[in-house]
Amino acid sequence: MDYKLVLRENHKENTVIEIGKVKIGQDKVLIAGPCTIESEAQMLECAEAVKHAGANILRGGAFKPRTSPYSFQGLGEEALLYLKEAKEKTGLPTISEIVDIKDLPLFENVDILQVGAKNMQNFELLKELGRQEKPVLLKRNFGATIDELLSSAEYIMAEGNKKVILCERGIKSFDHETRFLLDLGAVAVLKLKTHLPVIVDPSHAMGRAELVPSMAKAAMAAGADGVMIEVHNNPECALCDGAQSLKYAEFEKLAKEL
Ligand code: PEP
Ligand code: MN
Repeated sequence: MDYKLVLRENHKENTVIEIGKVKIGQDKVLIAGPCTIESEAQMLECAEAVKHAGANILRGGAFKPRTSPYSFQGLGEEALLYLKEAKEKTGLPTISEIVDIKDLPLFENVDILQVGAKNMQNFELLKELGRQEKPVLLKRNFGATIDELLSSAEYIMAEGNKKVILCERGIKSFDHETRFLLDLGAVAVLKLKTHLPVIVDPSHAMGRAELVPSMAKAAMAAGADGVMIEVHNNPECALCDGAQSLKYAEFEKLAKEL
């Protein structure tokens, strides 16, 4: 593959991305929050809960690229206002997925721009994000090789933005016991091959809340720089990804164990 900026051989030191008090790539990070922002009350309550438990970055989806056009697509601009409020109330930096560069002005108060697995090879989006100042968390597509992930990261870096965070979130396999197959081998490979921070998302990989804590711990043992966990006040009623979302108490227990 043709990439160079991502490679550790050309940049020996770990890339460290500072967002407020958090140094991604140096400190271990715990990103948590709802899959999807459903209401102001839900976002604010969840933000307080994950902060109390020890999360240092807050997640919340506003634009949701769903497999079915009939599934809930997120509250969009309204959701980002609730995320801003949650950031002001908790002091936590935030991350949210961007699907269209035209939405960028709406992300003014979002600290990290997330590229979802389905958009990992949306090269025009990657190039535009490469011209921004904000850090980008790039999720590996469920059908992409490690090489392809690194090529996508190179697209962003080649435009000037060196603040790229990689995220392993599971790949497709023949076994449907779990939603995807969490590729922790990829974490070890990435830490060796690149200087970029690597985050693991065991929530989307497992698809089942009861399996998330063990895989979050395994991810840290594999050398990840942090994990991203979906948390919901009432997973049974979540509009998206309830089955894999931890309840507040479950998240608090995991945070302590981590
Ligand atoms: C998400 O993190 O909200 C998400 C949609 O995950 P992925 O892009 O990995 O499916
Ligand atoms: Mn989700």
